[in-house]
Amino acid sequence: MDFGFSDDQIALRDSVRKFAEAELLPNYQRWDQQDGWLPKEFIDKIVSMGLLTLRLPEEYGGQGASFVDCGIVCEEIGRADHNIRYIISNAIHLGEMAPSMHPELRAEWIPRIAAGEQMSLAFTEPRGGADAGNIVTKAVKDGGDWLISGEKTSITFCGVSKVVFVSARTGGAGPRGLSFFLVPTDLPGVSKSEFKRMGQRIDRAGSFFFDEVRIPARNMIGEENTGFIWAMTIIGYNRNFVPLACIGAAQKSLEETIEYAKERQIMGKSMSKWQAVSTELAVAATKLDAARMLCYRALSLKDQGLRHDTESSMAKWWGVMVANEVLYTCMRLHGHYGWATSLPFEQRYRDCLGMESADGPREIHHGIIARDLLGRQHAPF
Ligand SMILES: Cc1cc2nc3c(=O)[nH]c(=O)nc-3n(C[C@H](O)[C@H](O)[C@H](O)COP(=O)(O)OP(=O)(O)OC[C@H]3O[C@@H](n4cnc5c(N)ncnc54)[C@H](O)[C@@H]3O)c2cc1C
Repeated sequence: MDFGFSDDQIALRDSVRKFAEAELLPNYQRWDQQDGWLPKEFIDKIVSMGLLTLRLPEEYGGQGASFVDCGIVCEEIGRADHNIRYIISNAIHLGEMAPSMHPELRAEWIPRIAAGEQMSLAFTEPRGGADAGNIVTKAVKDGGDWLISGEKTSITFCGVSKVVFVSARTGGAGPRGLSFFLVPTDLPGVSKSEFKRMGQRIDRAGSFFFDEVRIPARNMIGEENTGFIWAMTIIGYNRNFVPLACIGAAQKSLEETIEYAKERQIMGKSMSKWQAVSTELAVAATKLDAARMLCYRALSLKDQGLRHDTESSMAKWWGVMVANEVLYTCMRLHGHYGWATSLPFEQRYRDCLGMESADGPREIHHGIIARDLLGRQHAPF
C-alpha cells in the first residue's frame, strides 16, 4: 500500500496551492458579498492554469489527468474558495462526456466550456433529487429531433450557464428509461428562475423549465436509455471531489485556528496551552486526515478501473460531515471573531453545509453502504 502522492502529484498540489492562495483566497469573501457573476479576467486566470481541461483527454486538447490528480486540485482549490471547485469539477466531467459526444457537439461546446463558459448539470426535480432514477422530465422523439419537457431545480450556475446537461425520460419507468442531453440554454422553450441559498452565493442557483424544447438527436450523450449509468458514473467519482473541497476548507481553517490558538491569551496563558483546546485541534486533525484518506482511496480505485461505489459513499457522507464539524469547531474557537463576516469561517461553514445534500444526502450513502454489507435482498434499495 502506498499512502503518498507521486513527485508529479506533489508538484501539482504545490502549484495549485500557490495559485489558489494568490488569486482565489483574497477574493473568496468578496464574491459572497456581491450579486452578479465572476469577472471574465478572474475566470481567465482559472482557464490559464488549465483547471478546466484537467480530465479532458489529450486528443481533445486536455491534460488527461487522473482522478487522484483531480481530487488534489479540488482539495487545494477548496482551501481557498470552495465555490470555484464547483466550476472545476463540472468541467472535469467533460473527460467522461467528450468521447461519447457527437463530433459536431464536441467541436462546438468543448472549446467554449474550456474557455470558461458555464455548464450546469440538471438531475434534481421539484419532487425530489435523492431518487435520481425516478425523474419525470421527458424527451419525446419528433422526426430526427427530441422534444424535452419538464422542470429541474436546485441547479448550480443556472443563472449563468450557456448549456445544461439534462437527464430526461426516453423509455419506461425507473432508472433504465433515462437519457442525457446537452441543451443550450438560449433555445426557444428554455426558461429559468434563480433563487438565493444560504451558502455558495456566487453560484446563481435556480430552476430550469423546459417546454417542448427541440433538440437534434446529436445532442444526446451516450446511448438512448443509458442515462442512469452516465449519472452514476459522474456522481460516483464526484462524491469524492465534494468532500475533498470541504476538507480543503476545513484544513485551511484548522491551520488558521492553530496559529490563533498560539497567539490568543486566555486567563494569562496562550489558548493552545488549555488542554480542552489542544485536544479539539488534535481531534480535528485526525478526523480530516481519515476523511481525506477515504476520498483518495476511492479515487485511486476509480483510476485503477475498480469498483468504488461503497468507498465513494463512505467518503462522501463521512468527509462532508467531518469537514463541517471541523469548520464549526474552528469558528467556535475564534470566539466572536469567528462569527464575524470579516473572517472567512462563517462563509466556509455556510458554503460547505450545502454539500450534505449535494450529490446525495447521507441517508442515500448509508443505503449504498448497507446494500454492500447486507446483500441487495436485505438492503433498503
Ligand atoms: C449546494 C447544492 C448544490 C446543488 N447543485 C445541484 C446541481 O447542480 N444539479 C442538480 O441536479 N442538483 C443539485 N443539487 C440538488 C441535490 O442533488 C439534491 O439536494 C439531492 O439530490 C437531494 O435531493 P432533495 O434535496 O430533493 O431531497 P429529497 O430527495 O427530497 O430528500 C429529502 C431528505 O429525505 C431524506 N432521504 C432521502 N432519501 C432517503 C432514503 N433513501 N432513506 C432515508 N432518508 C432519505 C434525506 O434526509 C434528504 O435530505 C444541489 C444541492 C445543493 C444543496
